[in-house]
Amino acid sequence: NIFAVATGIKEHNDYAINFIEATRQIKEQCPGVKISGGVSNISFSFRGNDIVREAMHSSFLYHAIKAGMDMGIVNAGMIEVYEEVDKELLKHVEDVLFNRNEDATEALVSFAERLKGGAGKSIQRDETWRLTSVEERISHALVRGITEYIEVDVEEVRKKLPASLNVIEGPLMDGMNIVGDLFGSGKMFLPQVVKSARVMKQAVAYLTPFIEAEKASAESLSKGKILMATVKGDVHDIGKNIVGVVLACNSYDIIDLGVMVPTAKILDEAKKHNVDIIGLSGLITPSLDEMVNVAKEMQRQGFTLPLMIGGATTSKTHTALRIEPEYDGPVVHVLDASRSVTVASSLLTADENASATFRNNITEEYRILREKRAANQTAKDYISIEEARKNKIKIDWENYKAITPNKLGVTVETLDLKTLSEYIDWTPFFASWQLTGKYPAIFKDEIVGTEAKELYENAQVMLKLIIEENWLEARAVVGIFPAESIDERVLVYNETKTEKLTEFNFLRQQRKKADGLEYYSLADFIRPASEKKLDYIGAFAVSAGFNIDDRVKSFEQNNDDYSAIMLKALADRFAEAAAEYIHKKVRIKYWAYVIDENLNNDLLIDEKYQGIRPAPGYPACPDHTEKDLIWSLLNVEKNIGMILTESKAMFPAASVSGFFFAHPQSKYFGLGQVSKDQIVEYAKRKGYSVEDMEKWLAPNLNYIN
Ligand code: SAH
Repeated sequence: NIFAVATGIKEHNDYAINFIEATRQIKEQCPGVKISGGVSNISFSFRGNDIVREAMHSSFLYHAIKAGMDMGIVNAGMIEVYEEVDKELLKHVEDVLFNRNEDATEALVSFAERLKGGAGKSIQRDETWRLTSVEERISHALVRGITEYIEVDVEEVRKKLPASLNVIEGPLMDGMNIVGDLFGSGKMFLPQVVKSARVMKQAVAYLTPFIEAEKASAESLSKGKILMATVKGDVHDIGKNIVGVVLACNSYDIIDLGVMVPTAKILDEAKKHNVDIIGLSGLITPSLDEMVNVAKEMQRQGFTLPLMIGGATTSKTHTALRIEPEYDGPVVHVLDASRSVTVASSLLTADENASATFRNNITEEYRILREKRAANQTAKDYISIEEARKNKIKIDWENYKAITPNKLGVTVETLDLKTLSEYIDWTPFFASWQLTGKYPAIFKDEIVGTEAKELYENAQVMLKLIIEENWLEARAVVGIFPAESIDERVLVYNETKTEKLTEFNFLRQQRKKADGLEYYSLADFIRPASEKKLDYIGAFAVSAGFNIDDRVKSFEQNNDDYSAIMLKALADRFAEAAAEYIHKKVRIKYWAYVIDENLNNDLLIDEKYQGIRPAPGYPACPDHTEKDLIWSLLNVEKNIGMILTESKAMFPAASVSGFFFAHPQSKYFGLGQVSKDQIVEYAKRKGYSVEDMEKWLAPNLNYIN
C-alpha cells in the first residue's frame, strides 16, 4: 500500500520514503519477490491540481522503480515525463516526498496554488528547456513535438559529432526511443506521436544533404523496410498514413505507394526495394477481396515475406478465413497503429526462436478462428427469402399520406464551408486519431482529455484556414423521385411518372428471429406498387475533397504528416457535415415533408429527425454496386465531378452518398447474412452473375462460396 503524503498530518510525512525504503530492503533480502503499488494515492491531497499530481507520480515512480518497484497502478494520463517536470516544481515535490524539511508541504501547497491560479498548463510553454544541454533539448523537442528549434539544435550537435549520421544514431534515435516507449506503454497518444514524427522527419531532412556529402547512408539504421499500400479500387489512407508514421518513428523504413495500388505494382515494388514486410490497407468491403488477390499472387510468385493487413473493414476473422489460407508466408491482421510496432518487431526480430513462436502462434490462432467459424456456421438458422418476405415491416399505408415534394428531379447544390462547419460531428474526428470518447465530454476524460483538447485546438486553427482560404471545395447533388416498391426492389420514375428511370435493389434479412418479428428490407419503407398511390425516394452524393491533393502533397513534402493527416481528417468531417446539411435541406425545403424541425446540431447528430439516409456499403444496404445506379440517376460525375473506382470507392476520398427515405417509421438496421436463394434472385435482377454478386457481398453470405 502507498499512502498519501502532504495531508497536514505529521505522521504521514514519511509514507513515500517508507514505501521506497521498504521496497529497497525487500528487494535486497528477497530478490525474487515482485513489488506492486497503487501510485495515485500518494498525491491524494492535491486532487484538482493535476500538474502537481502528475509531477508527484513521476517523481515517486522514478525513485521507487530505482529502488526495485516492479509494477505500479496509476492513471496513465496522469504521469508527466520525469525529465520534463518543471525543475522548481520538482524540487518542491521531492522535498515533500523525501520529507526534507518541516515546511515542505506548506511550500508545495502555496506553489501549487500559483500553478492552479489560471496559469495551469502555461508551465508547458515555459522556454527554460532551451537552457538545457543540446541532447536534452532534442529529446524534449521530440517528446513534445516542437519543430521550432530542431534545425538549430541538430546543427549544434552535428558540429560536435564526427559524422552527421551520428546525430540520427545518437540523440535523435534516443529521443524517438523515448517516444516509442511512452506510446507503447500508453503514456503518449497518437496525435503526439505524429507530431514527434514531424520533428524527426524535419531533423532528418536537414541532415540528409550532409550525410550524402559524407557518402554515408541512413538506411543502415533501419530496423526493416516496410512497403505500405492501399489496395486497388480504394482511396482511403488516413489510417495507413498513421501506421506509416508510427512505424517510421520506430526506425522502420517506410515505402508508401499511396492509394489505388494494383497488385502487380505492389509486388514489383516489394521486389525492387527488397522489403521485409508488405502492409495492405483498405476501408471498403471490396478491398477485402483485393487483399485476397494480393495474397494469392504472392503465393504464386513464391514470396515468403510477411503480409500485414489493416484498415477499417479488415478483421482478424476475415484475415484468418480468407487471406491467410491463400498464402504460406505469415499473414497478420493489425488492429491499429499502436499494435503495428509490436507486430513488425515480432515478425522481424533477429531472435529466430521468438520470431518463429510469434508466427506459429498467429497461425494457430487463425486456424482456431476458422474452426470456430465453421462450427458457428451450421448453428445459425436462416429462413427462405419467400418466408422472410411474408414478414416484411408492417406499415399502415392506408393512412399514410406521402407529402408531394416541392422540387422533384435533380438539384446541384453549392455548399459554403463556413455553413457546413456548423454541422460537423466531432466525435468521429477524435476516433480517426484513435482517441475514444464522445465530444465534448472527451475533454474531461481522465486519460485522453488533455490530448483531445490540444488536438481539437489545432484542428480549429486549420479549420479556420480551410474556410478563410478556401482550401477545400464542397459539392453536392440531390434528387427526389416518384417511387414504388415491389418486394426488395424500388422502382424510380421521372417527375411525371411516365418513364421508369432506374430500379434500386435492396436485400432482406433472413437470419431466423423469434415468431412474429419482422424481416427488414429498406424497400419496405417505400409504398408498395400494389397500393397504387404515389410515394417518393431521394438520393444524394456529396464530396468535400475537391482541391485537397496539392495541399496534402505540399504538407508531405515539408515532412509535415501531422498537418497532412489533419487536413484529410477534416475533409472527411466536412463531407459528413455536407450530408447532414443537405439532408436537412431536403427535409425542410426540397421535399418539405417537415415544415420546421428546430433541431440543433447535437439533435441532428443523434438523428432525431424524421427519415434516414442509408449509404450503400453500410449495414442496411451493404452492396456497393448500387452506387452505380445513384451515379447514373443523378448524373453525379457530370454534375459535380465525383467518380467511382472499380471497387466503387468514391473519389475524392472525403465523400458520402446514399438514399433518402422519408417515412416516419424508416430506420437503420443491419442486414446481417443472407442465404444463397436470395443472392441468386438478387444477382439475376441486377444482371450480375451469381459469382460476381457473391464477390461483392462476400461478408454478407451465410455460406462459404
Ligand atoms: N455524424 C456522423 C454521421 C455518419 S454515421 C459523422 O459525421 O460521421 C451515420 C451515417 O452512416 C448515416 O447517416 C448513414 O448514411 C450511414 N449509416 C449508418 N448506419 C447505417 C445502416 N445501418 N445502414 C446504412 N447506412 C447507415
